[in-house]
Amino acid sequence: KRQSKIRNFSIIAHIDHGKSTLADRILERTGALTDREMKDQTLDAMDLERERGITIKLNSVQLTYKAKDGEEYIFHLIDTPGHVDFSYEVSRSLAACEGALLIVDAAQGIEAQTLANVYLALDNDLEILPVINKIDLPSAEPERVRQEVEDVIGLDASEAVLASAKSGIGIEDILEQIVEKVPAPQGDPEGPLQALIFDSLYDPYRGVVAYIRITEGTVKVGDKIRMMATGKEFEVNEIGVFNPKPVSKEYLSVGDVGFLTAAIKNVGDSRVGDTITSVKNSAAKPLPGYRRMNPMVYCGLYPVDSAQYNDLREALERLELNDSSLQYEAETSQALGFGFRCGFLGLLHMEIVQERIEREFNIDLITTAPSVIYQVKLTDGEEVIIDNPAMMPDAQSITEVQEPYVKATIMAPNDYVGAIMELCQGKRGDFIDMQYMDESRVNIVYHLPLSEIVYDFFDQLKSSTKGYASFDYELIGYRESNLVKMDILLNAEKIDALSIIVHRDFAYDRGKDITETLKDLIPRQQFEVPIQASIGQKIVARSTIKAMRKNVLAKCYGGDISRKRKLLEKQKEGKKRMKTVGKVEVPQEAFMAVLRQD
Ligand code: GDP
Ligand code: MG
Repeated sequence: KRQSKIRNFSIIAHIDHGKSTLADRILERTGALTDREMKDQTLDAMDLERERGITIKLNSVQLTYKAKDGEEYIFHLIDTPGHVDFSYEVSRSLAACEGALLIVDAAQGIEAQTLANVYLALDNDLEILPVINKIDLPSAEPERVRQEVEDVIGLDASEAVLASAKSGIGIEDILEQIVEKVPAPQGDPEGPLQALIFDSLYDPYRGVVAYIRITEGTVKVGDKIRMMATGKEFEVNEIGVFNPKPVSKEYLSVGDVGFLTAAIKNVGDSRVGDTITSVKNSAAKPLPGYRRMNPMVYCGLYPVDSAQYNDLREALERLELNDSSLQYEAETSQALGFGFRCGFLGLLHMEIVQERIEREFNIDLITTAPSVIYQVKLTDGEEVIIDNPAMMPDAQSITEVQEPYVKATIMAPNDYVGAIMELCQGKRGDFIDMQYMDESRVNIVYHLPLSEIVYDFFDQLKSSTKGYASFDYELIGYRESNLVKMDILLNAEKIDALSIIVHRDFAYDRGKDITETLKDLIPRQQFEVPIQASIGQKIVARSTIKAMRKNVLAKCYGGDISRKRKLLEKQKEGKKRMKTVGKVEVPQEAFMAVLRQD
């Protein structure tokens, strides 16, 4: 029976432990791609993914494997991102699988996101197959790592494959274990259709392309289908699988992973996490959807050229389609004009979205510094939620401000315990726990305000541990804090896009840092520009940008024309990311100045 030959699995790992490289080896070995088609890390399709070496969107491929038992098996490999910001995508892809390969780097051992990903896999009841990768490295300690997998995760690692995705060692064993240990999909091909939409993208010609996993029943071209969340009905135009190129099929049945189009023009009609059923033979209930991930970090996105406001809105609509964790709503800033307040899962997510808007949609952006969500109780008993520091009410009308806290897990060699603790204390952290994973590595747990992590926590952690620490965090709730709003004034004018919320104890230092940083970032103007930081009416820090001494063109008055043009071009170049705020020209970097803490 065909269904008994299907194996659906994901690859999970801490970032850089070799997921994408292993996926490539599996693609090669199963003949999905000829050598000529094979590029390194084929599943990382987006340019951005290649450049940054990270996997952002999940991808699914159908492969055929002839096993040692002489039978041919159908594999669906679903690639997942490793970064903590994208755990939403990871849980989506895991819901479409029965098994997961857990890759652990033989030189690094278990890291923070190895654990986080294992928990997601356990939540989805997956069979987890440990693989110890990079055994070709001179510093590899496969047996120590095998023991660590047993001690720290509690998985039986006695049969963990020792592999090198780079040199192609152990690939055959991994494929055989998938056949033996990952269960075949359950379900009745004749039953009422249940197909989980785990991803989707928009194609201008075909409409929404839904990536689906069939859990029950069969779907054919020409079938009438219904989206269970909206009740909207469509007729199936096209069905297929990725191998990894899209290949059309007549039908998809239980256990299959592939795609479907049905002239769905409205993006909202095909939501990721929804279940597709057939009109003729309807399922009684939808499949359990996904836990909705709420954004943790917000920032304002404004077009440098305000004429591009509508383009920016279209770009956000497009991106939201296959990234349901992205949220946005229109906002206006006195300083920056019309734009959007956008919510992201984390900082990396925020950067990726910004870069995609700039590259794929050709819109130059001004982004404001990221902020978390504050819960504010007012003296009149009302409670408000603030995702933009500029909207924080006056101190007199506030009785209490609460900010989000996270539980941060940091794993590192024990030489760095001191440095890590110092960093966490400086970020208002509460020490919770420290445990030795083995003789040389520790697992440290802190409770920290999310806003402190949003600033440059990760960079500082990396530099104070020479890159050896790994880090993961989860939201644990809100706590009261002594927080105040700090405004920044340029030329005596309050710039709403520069307002921030700070802990009162740090307010003076932060004010000083920011006014100094702005002084360096904002170019000299024709006139002197005072920069002030204020809390309420009180100025807490100030600096001054001196007036420009000479006009750049004055130097070449009557001089040769090419030099003049060069200077003008240089000036134009420098202006690219400038926004005129009041009378002052402010560069993009200035809006991020609050992130810089030295
Ligand atoms: P991912 O972030 O988990 O997808 O990791 P990648 O597959 O992108 O690999 C991260 C880095 O480790 C790349 O530079 C790979 O070439 C390298 N790498 C992956 N597997 C191996 C291996 O088995 N041995 C060695 N030496 N390097 C590897
Ligand atoms: Mg990768």
